[in-house]
Amino acid sequence: MDWKNFEVQEDISLASFTTWKVGGVAQWYAEPDAEELPGLLRLAREHDVPVFFLGRGSNVLIADKGLPGLVVHTWKALSGIRRIGDDMVEAEAGVPLPRLSRFVADLGCAGFEFLIGIPGTVGGGVVINAGLRAPLRREVLDILVEVDLVEVDGTLITLSASEIGLRYRHSNLFDRGSFVLRARFVLEDFASGSDVIRRRTAHHLLERKQKQPLSRQTAGSTFKQVRAGPATGWYLEKAGLKGRRVGGAVVSEKHANWIETDSSATANDVKELMKVMVNEVRSKFGVVINREVRFLPEDTTFQA
Ligand SMILES: Cc1cc2nc3c(=O)[nH]c(=O)nc-3n(C[C@H](O)[C@H](O)[C@H](O)COP(=O)(O)OP(=O)(O)OC[C@H]3O[C@@H](n4cnc5c(N)ncnc54)[C@H](O)[C@@H]3O)c2cc1C
Repeated sequence: MDWKNFEVQEDISLASFTTWKVGGVAQWYAEPDAEELPGLLRLAREHDVPVFFLGRGSNVLIADKGLPGLVVHTWKALSGIRRIGDDMVEAEAGVPLPRLSRFVADLGCAGFEFLIGIPGTVGGGVVINAGLRAPLRREVLDILVEVDLVEVDGTLITLSASEIGLRYRHSNLFDRGSFVLRARFVLEDFASGSDVIRRRTAHHLLERKQKQPLSRQTAGSTFKQVRAGPATGWYLEKAGLKGRRVGGAVVSEKHANWIETDSSATANDVKELMKVMVNEVRSKFGVVINREVRFLPEDTTFQA
């Protein structure tokens, strides 16, 4: 494949680009900036090359056999962030959500504190509508104004937040195969003051430290919350799954909805452990739990 003047590398290991640190190689790999991206996607499409998007890799399980196509990785080249006028902030796809949180806090604006402990990027956060359910429900959809997208044919469009179908850990961008290039968020609350922002930020971090295995290799919550009733973690814990292991993957002792990996783990270990978790909860409680984590290549967002 002739990638013309685009900088594209071959056979790049992806494990270190994910928080579980498992998975195979990318057949091709690029870190395009905003100007290069539309042309690169167009070229991939012309040559029927499947394209996979990767942010911080904190919500994906990449198959051990790797990804047969082009991986577009956002977190280095797409890192711009700026204030626009009085009431908006714009961030490119690769900006880490904690950086967005701190940037807005430094402007003296409240409302972005919930992002401080979510290690993903703006792109990954928007497509998945990242957020918190407890103690207070707050998600990307509460702050998002609009997104600049690159469509599968390389065209650039802007859609409002209401047009991308954000709901609990979902947007319609997965079905469209659109790439989130940048997003604009509303700055509303300048009245709460920096003390409140500092306190809320510290509170979020402390809560996470107490309840979540933050020093381990994880991808956050593995499964979505069930619609009604107890939290998914409750079912998993009551099913006796804490400490259950498949190879190098183990259900966290600290939080039963989190899977930890060690240096021997494979993506297949994680997948098999997830199957055990689903089956045990179904057989013990008759409850179906659905994964929050995206599988690549199976859940590919953009096939040529
Ligand atoms: C310690 C820890 C804590 C976490 N806490 C939370 C939490 O409180 N709330 C929460 O919601 N999540 C949480 N997560 C999960 C994760 O951080 C979020 O879902 C985050 O939004 C994923 O962003 P990412 O950049 O890592 O996406 P990735 O994992 O890289 O990708 C996720 C999906 O988005 C797609 N994608 C990535 N970038 C783009 C783009 N620019 N355009 C189009 N598609 C794209 C990928 O193809 C993939 O399908 C946590 C994870 C960890 C490890």
